[in-house]
Amino acid sequence: MTDTLPDIEVRGQRRREPAEPFPERPEPVVFEGQHAELDPNIGQELDPCADPATALDWNADAAAAEAKREFERRAADMGDDGLYTREWHAYVYQNASGHMYLGPVSYGPPMGGMVTPNTSGMTPDNLIGSVHNHPGGSMNPSGSDWQGFDGLHSWVSAYAGTARADQMRLYIIARDVNDPNSQMSIHVFDKDSNRNSDSPAEDVNPDGQPCP
Ligand SMILES: [Zn+2]
Repeated sequence: MTDTLPDIEVRGQRRREPAEPFPERPEPVVFEGQHAELDPNIGQELDPCADPATALDWNADAAAAEAKREFERRAADMGDDGLYTREWHAYVYQNASGHMYLGPVSYGPPMGGMVTPNTSGMTPDNLIGSVHNHPGGSMNPSGSDWQGFDGLHSWVSAYAGTARADQMRLYIIARDVNDPNSQMSIHVFDKDSNRNSDSPAEDVNPDGQPCP
């Protein structure tokens, strides 16, 4: 029996097309009977949580999903129309043991189309990205979003190294205004993203959960 590996590299909790399922962690493989002699590690290799490099994407995507749920919860408390009323923002941080968490959530005025990020608690060593929504619908980062990203990338690069800075990502929550049935979804960008592309980036599972 040969296993067929997917041709395309799956990163984090993302899919390329809205019709695709989101990636899932594999179920634990139980070996019984005639398969008992097989290496118990077989089948575990694709678990994104088994490798710190792939766990980073998985957990950062989970944090972005948590941010979206938290924005929605707070928006409901304020009587907003979901994430359509105002902009919400949070940074994603990673502590020394690898755990991801959200920084303070900030929000802008109704129909203002802006938000002032709260940078308290930010260091060049813990910053891993940011999450904010576009109530008006643009699924790609704006010019000023990229300006902010580049500024933080330079700062992290100067104090924590380029390799660390290159792990930073920018999550945008928006709906596809060209599709009347679309929902608010999470799109992810990094330094390698094509900034001139109009096509939407991969979207992240809004129900994503971190590695155990
Ligand atoms: Zn923006």
